[in-house]
Amino acid sequence: MKYFNNKLKIENVSVHSLARKYGTPSYCYSFNRLKNNINCFKKNFNSFAPLICFAVKSNTNLNLIKEIKKFGLGADVVSMGELMLALKAGINPKKIVFSGIGKTSKEIEFAINKKILLINVESRSEIKEIERIAKIRNKKVDIGIRLNPNTDAKTLRQISTGKKENKFGVNDKIFFDLVNYCKKSKNLILKCLSVHIGSQILDHKPYEKMLQVIDRIIRKVNYNFEFIDLGGGMGISYMGNKELNYKKYCSAINKFLKKHNSKIIFEPGRSIIGNTGFLIAKIIYIKKNGKKNFVILDAAMNDLIRPALYGAHHNILPSERRNKRFVKNYEFVGPICETTDRFSSFKKFQELKEKEIVTICDVGAYGMSLSSNYNIRPKAIELLINGSKVRIIKKRQKLNELM
Ligand SMILES: *Cc1c(COP(=O)(O)O)cnc(C)c1O
Repeated sequence: MKYFNNKLKIENVSVHSLARKYGTPSYCYSFNRLKNNINCFKKNFNSFAPLICFAVKSNTNLNLIKEIKKFGLGADVVSMGELMLALKAGINPKKIVFSGIGKTSKEIEFAINKKILLINVESRSEIKEIERIAKIRNKKVDIGIRLNPNTDAKTLRQISTGKKENKFGVNDKIFFDLVNYCKKSKNLILKCLSVHIGSQILDHKPYEKMLQVIDRIIRKVNYNFEFIDLGGGMGISYMGNKELNYKKYCSAINKFLKKHNSKIIFEPGRSIIGNTGFLIAKIIYIKKNGKKNFVILDAAMNDLIRPALYGAHHNILPSERRNKRFVKNYEFVGPICETTDRFSSFKKFQELKEKEIVTICDVGAYGMSLSSNYNIRPKAIELLINGSKVRIIKKRQKLNELM
């Protein structure tokens, strides 16, 4: 994503030509950013070579998951559908972990049959249900227990998951009980302690605290976990904010591993796929109402709900940069009849024209996967761009499919 002769390009392809050829709104992904993210992630933690399980919920495009699989990543899934998709993408079941607080009997049965690496359990009731199913099938099932470490991730309230008031994981007291329960069970093999304290985390300190909590709990429970699953949550830079200090996070883990002989699992979503995605949209109208200038796009909250759902901010770039001063205040909105159907506001932006193309940045994670057909709006096309090559990785939905 760069300007060449003032024209915005994703890799070697101009946004303008993508809009002309494939229409708008369209989701475009940069293959080389994806490759770079995965290589950097591996490099950041190469001192202990973790198992990296891509959090499928952040992006459920089958073709993208196939690409991610080629780099050797596994998958973190949260439903039977995601598990089926990860398997369809060719991911080895022994690299798949199943998270979530409400796995149904059907989902548990399916996961057991597929012999995945771990089912990460989040309650007493769930552990009993897994044991019941395993007993009937006369199987031994590898599980993890998700601890709620009561750690403030210092991220958006809506995406914080590791505090005691959040619904995720179990507290230390229940954790001890469940470990003891597993020790006696003939059908459950406890292999993992898992945590996931939230998403879009930019400060390494919550991770350090989380590791201290895990350290303390393992000493107390005196059990050797084959795996420690640290979840995902690594934040990215949306509006030029500072990024997570991977060095410090990594050295905290190295310190932890000196005391505990376990294999580390990560479940990153956003940090792998977030900055690879761009949503290209066309300006339908520009509407002046008093002091405010509304830029009405043909993309809406059904395409990208993060601003409406979490108050998230995404940068927006014009497809053509004109060498004029940044003079206009603009609020970028969608056409849906909801006040929350708005993207970002800018105090100073280059003057735009109706029918012009703009690009909403960093939409690879929780963009398309959270999209809907609200207002009977068809889902956008998805394109994968590698150098000068453009590949359709999902077709645009047609209106007659929605009737
Ligand atoms: C959502 C989720 C993730 C991925 O979080 P990111 O912030 O996208 O890295 C990982 N693990 C679990 C259990 C999750 O629910």
